[in-house]
Amino acid sequence: MNHSCLPNVATRFEGGTLVVRTLEALAPGDPLLHCYGPQAGEMTAAQRHGMLAHQYFFDCRCRACSGADGGDAQQVLADAAPAGLRCSAGSAGGAGQCEGAALPAEAVPAGLLHQYALPPGSGACCTCGAVLGAQRWQQAVLPDLQAAAEAYADAAAALDQQELRQGAAAPPREQAAAATAAAAQAIRGLRQCLRLRQQHLHPHNLLLGGTHDALARAWHAAGNAQAAAQHLRHSLAVLEHAYPPGSTAAAFQRRQLAGMLRLAAANAAPGSSGAAVEELLAEARAEDEAADAVLELHFETQP
Ligand SMILES: [Zn+2]
Ligand SMILES: [Zn+2]
Repeated sequence: MNHSCLPNVATRFEGGTLVVRTLEALAPGDPLLHCYGPQAGEMTAAQRHGMLAHQYFFDCRCRACSGADGGDAQQVLADAAPAGLRCSAGSAGGAGQCEGAALPAEAVPAGLLHQYALPPGSGACCTCGAVLGAQRWQQAVLPDLQAAAEAYADAAAALDQQELRQGAAAPPREQAAAATAAAAQAIRGLRQCLRLRQQHLHPHNLLLGGTHDALARAWHAAGNAQAAAQHLRHSLAVLEHAYPPGSTAAAFQRRQLAGMLRLAAANAAPGSSGAAVEELLAEARAEDEAADAVLELHFETQP
């Protein structure tokens, strides 16, 4: 089977047998296209090319790659946005704001934002061509993104610690107070991280989705499933833009959101209306159904 960054089959092993399932209706003679590793959405076309050339010695010409390389405006934006910055052209947030994504030319310190280790010459908006100057990158964008990454790491550490403490035998009241304090600290840090990232990153950047995921985890730790569900909705929206339709990444996120919505419904304050609870449950059912439709295609063993 040939590779495509937009595969039309899912494969898995059952014992010694390789099971191949098609993900869409195919006509006789259509090629079966399997993804050797990097899917569209997970990396930019330039990064996928680098990886495929290095490991498999070919130049990918799939639909996603030829669209991005050939200058198809929609495909170019879809390719750059999951790793891109906001374009600085036009008034910020105003009517003239360009909605394109800019990829920085400068490689950033290792481990900070691995998706920014891009080839030189890409420091411009993919839609309008506005240049992302090295000075702006060094003096404004990079320091903010570094501060955001530090705030994120501190918040994640606070949440990890709190989850460790929950496992230890502490008196319940003390435990609850420590958990609330850790969650509140994490929420403060993650809000600061989100603000900085929203200022500089393209709205479909996967890092924003990850920040919303962390906020969902923190709100869940703070006992507020409603707020957690709201962040999971934002994260799902990012994944839906970044990945092609029918992706398992979005489907797993829908499952998680459905679980959080059920928890929010179960925790609803005694005074809240039955209609509000029913709305949460209806949303949970819809998310589960949408997730099942995708996951059955990928994982169901028998039709
Ligand atoms: Zn490709
Ligand atoms: Zn632009």
